Amino acid sequence: MSKLVYMFASGKADGHTGMKDLLGGKGANLAEMTNLGIPVPPGFTISTEACNLYFENNHKMPAGLARQVDGAMAKLAKNQGKKFGDPKNPLLVSVRSGAKFSMPGMMDTILNLGLNDQAVEGLARSSGDARMAYDSYRRFIQMYSDVVLELSKGKFEELLERMKRQRRVQLDTDLTADDLMKLTEQYKQLVKKVTRKGFPQKASDQLWGAIGAVFRSWGNPRAMRYRREYGIPDDLGTAVNVQCMVFGNLGDDCATGVAFTRNPASGENVLYGEYLVNAQGEDVVAGIRTPQPISESQRVDDGQVSLERLMPRAYAQLQKIRTKLEKHYHDMQDVEFTIERDKLYMLQTRTGKRTGLAALNVAYELKQSRVISQQEAVKRVEPDMLVQLLAPVFDPKDLERARKRGSVIARGLPAGPGAASGTIAFTAEQAEKLAAKGAHVLLVRTETSPEDIGGMVASVGILTSRGGMTSHAAVVARGMGKPCIVGAEALVVDESAKRLHVGSTALKEGDQLSIEGTTGEVILGHLDPHPSEIQQVLVEGSLKPAKSEIYQRFSALMGWADRVRRLRVRTNADTPHDSAVARAFGAEGIGLCRTEHMFFAEDRIAAVREMILSDDDKQRDRALKRLLPMQRKDFIGIFKAMDGLPVTIRLLDPPLHEFLPTKADQFRRLAEEMGVSVKTLEDKAEQLHESNPMLGHRGCRLGITFPSIYEMQARAIFEAALACAKKGIKVHPEVMIPLIGTVEEYRILAERVHAVAAEVSKKSKTKLKYRVGTMIEIPRACLIAGEIAKEAEFFSFGTNDLTQMTYGYSRDDVGKFLPHYLQKRVIPADPFQQVDQIGVGRLVKLCIAEGRGQAPKLKIGVCGEHGGDASSVVFFHEAGADYVSCSPFRVPVARLAAAHAVLMAGPGGGSGTA
Ligand code: PEP
Ligand code: MG
Repeated sequence: MSKLVYMFASGKADGHTGMKDLLGGKGANLAEMTNLGIPVPPGFTISTEACNLYFENNHKMPAGLARQVDGAMAKLAKNQGKKFGDPKNPLLVSVRSGAKFSMPGMMDTILNLGLNDQAVEGLARSSGDARMAYDSYRRFIQMYSDVVLELSKGKFEELLERMKRQRRVQLDTDLTADDLMKLTEQYKQLVKKVTRKGFPQKASDQLWGAIGAVFRSWGNPRAMRYRREYGIPDDLGTAVNVQCMVFGNLGDDCATGVAFTRNPASGENVLYGEYLVNAQGEDVVAGIRTPQPISESQRVDDGQVSLERLMPRAYAQLQKIRTKLEKHYHDMQDVEFTIERDKLYMLQTRTGKRTGLAALNVAYELKQSRVISQQEAVKRVEPDMLVQLLAPVFDPKDLERARKRGSVIARGLPAGPGAASGTIAFTAEQAEKLAAKGAHVLLVRTETSPEDIGGMVASVGILTSRGGMTSHAAVVARGMGKPCIVGAEALVVDESAKRLHVGSTALKEGDQLSIEGTTGEVILGHLDPHPSEIQQVLVEGSLKPAKSEIYQRFSALMGWADRVRRLRVRTNADTPHDSAVARAFGAEGIGLCRTEHMFFAEDRIAAVREMILSDDDKQRDRALKRLLPMQRKDFIGIFKAMDGLPVTIRLLDPPLHEFLPTKADQFRRLAEEMGVSVKTLEDKAEQLHESNPMLGHRGCRLGITFPSIYEMQARAIFEAALACAKKGIKVHPEVMIPLIGTVEEYRILAERVHAVAAEVSKKSKTKLKYRVGTMIEIPRACLIAGEIAKEAEFFSFGTNDLTQMTYGYSRDDVGKFLPHYLQKRVIPADPFQQVDQIGVGRLVKLCIAEGRGQAPKLKIGVCGEHGGDASSVVFFHEAGADYVSCSPFRVPVARLAAAHAVLMAGPGGGSGTA
């Protein structure tokens, strides 16, 4: 018979912290604390294996479990000098669930198990405290009825409230032994009335009832939903922890509390938590009495009494245990404790949840005090937590108040992290106008298009009612580091009437609205956002690095991560400013410069439109000549900002009609400039209309049909490179051809690029160093990667389009069905955020294998949005990519994720050419 029960008592335990699979998180850590000599009430853990057998056996206890539990109970009785079920001096236990991962959906705790009508009197006599005995009994009846007999708590609460009213007292602690004795009677009658059976009196029946209830709680709908939400497998099972009771409710030298070994919000190295005098476990979280601060430094007013002052001995002991636990676990802990007659007992320890700021501070300080190594410090900070550190924030108190007031009027996808608050503008022009007058503007649209770029630049944040995480608004906002929420479907945006409706709330242009882009909350009215210190140092330059401790720590952590990682991190940037910001964040080059974003600037859109709408080559060439110096200037700016680093520039990609005029006055002005009729232009625009533009005349197809466009861009790149080189700037241009599906497409276009390079080089009598490569965005390109690799000098996965075309989900329309798909678990995660490893990822791996099979040194990058997603970065590391490229503000996230990828894989994990 296998071992199903694991003891921990008197400084010795059968288990340890590495046995979380078998003992659950709580059980494994109770064992570990016991072995460390920390005072833990003795007990035992019934393993998760027993729980799984229980389910396999059709809700029957596994063979042999009864014997092992009886044996363990006998040991506990001996240890305590008491007997389970003894009417005179009863042994009382707590029963708690404890899975491998903490799961709020499950049964939690039953205290005081073993009490019955006789034992309660025995306890009153042996403890000399009748009040405590009856208080314990009535709590036990209530908890047991709730979780084992499935009787709602509310009815018991009502009886308690009635008793307090009758006795004219406010607090439970003001009820006397007599009151509680009567209340216990009432509780038992309630149980009898509802269940038609008396409250179980036999201690062993109570125990088995509780064990069965814990097992079953693994399968309750709440727990199942929680597991689905967090991707926890269903076959783990829960352990059951049975532990001798210690009492925090024996009088004023007793207490119970919860604490973090450091402040979980700031990471400050102080014991931080709450406690209640003369109380039992659940009182602290139940909110019946207001808990008090643990330490003096945590006290905010004179009315509070800290544990430090009230029970200095227990407090000092808690401090010692805090240090011991952190040294042992190498991390901040979250603990539960009880003080019985001034003696401290630890009931739980686990890794404490924390904010991004706290994560950084804890990791940094533990490393500085030599508790952990540099690599461990890197592992302590989740990459996504850095986003919290970089983004502007609302004061958490302001946000909480807004939530309580009911001011959160909608929720959308958190596309761009950070807080923004401003005056609503419904059009890009209006946004620019208001911003020019000095207003903070929030651009609110159904969705954005490239034409809105000016308005997006002018706004502090962007909100759309449609679109997914890679919609135009999301991609551009992230690139700009602006807070952004997309797909807030509850909003009805009427751009022409300049109104916004959400339920019964109506808002107009000029009204104030706020967005919390980290959570996706849309908030009525104004809240003050504050830029993070790291942003002040790196982006605004308004704070000196030496003045910001948090910046220095951030920078140290990033340095440690850089020492570990293999994957390089580049950025997606289209302007010298974004390039400089990305470089400040540690970008090692540009992985994607989307040239079309440059075409929307006011001084060039007319020339772009002329280029598209002109009928003859002469006119087109005239337009292109106007664009050439502007593009050259753009590239010079970017090359300068990225001096010494590679810059990948993608030739024009989107469907042409995105650049077309849409409004009558735009047509009129352009017709005048081009010397043609409005009708001619309108007809031409109509001709360019496509039913499926994303699969239409775009990418390299434009290069094939309008060679002069790509030639102009290639010329601008090479002339800019030469101009920079002359000034001593080190330039490494990489020309990237988008949307290749056939080798021939690539061959034709690459040849033209080389020809332009040769011409520019010949004219200036200077040798040009550059590379030409391709994006891999079409599934067919993955399938013929070996062939493409014979020609192209590098690959860069455009995982946005690759995802779009592999799934057949339109990037711009997923907002319509994706939320339902996610809710109904049709797919586990948004594939536009986290790369779909088994489908899209398979194509990626196949492409890398075929490509490198042909050209072993082939440089391979990733420039879709996934390049900034931590879990995807780990995947690309493992797949063997050389670099990922992401928006400037996600560069630190990718750097840290790339380091995690190495640390997770252990020695020898992942391979690339760089
Ligand atoms: C991609 O498709 O992943 C990509 C980077 O290109 P874009 O998002 O501009 O289509
Ligand atoms: Mg693309």
